[in-house]
Amino acid sequence: MAASDLLNLSGLLDDAKCFALVRQHRWPEGVRCPVCDSGAVIRDGHDDTQFYRQRYRCKACAGRFDDLTGTLLAGHHQPLRVWVLCLYFMGLNLSNRQIAGELDLDGSDVQTMTEQLRCGLVAKAPEVTLKGEVEVDEVYVVAGHKGQPAAVAKRGGSDGVASWQARRAAARWRRTSHRSSA
Ligand SMILES: [Zn+2]
Repeated sequence: MAASDLLNLSGLLDDAKCFALVRQHRWPEGVRCPVCDSGAVIRDGHDDTQFYRQRYRCKACAGRFDDLTGTLLAGHHQPLRVWVLCLYFMGLNLSNRQIAGELDLDGSDVQTMTEQLRCGLVAKAPEVTLKGEVEVDEVYVVAGHKGQPAAVAKRGGSDGVASWQARRAAARWRRTSHRSSA
């Protein structure tokens, strides 16, 4: 690796620069409100735990947001630095496995990250609706063991097949009542 690459790399490790990079990608023409798209936005302090994560307030709709709000990077367990470095390594054509090695991360984590980064560093996070469906999903996971009661019993510990069936019945009830109340 050339010396200039190392210089660039250490530069990117700077938190302030990482957030500046995000702002530059996200709002090349200046900060805009992600809710109403107004440009009448004022700075509103910094994130409590990430100092360089700038907070904003929209004068048009009074909405509050920050550098990462509404992006894939918001609320992710990897620090922004790691995402930026991952993007940097992708630019160097490193494989997922090489990136995982460099960043000391799990290969499957890196795969998820590179897939998301291909949509862009500040791609919009998909809107997630979590409701009663989550419980139903869990039951589907367990139901996947159908025909292997031993595996189900092992997974659930003391609560075996009987409670699995009870949970499935309960979920079916919830699903039905959810639908009729909607
Ligand atoms: Zn707004």
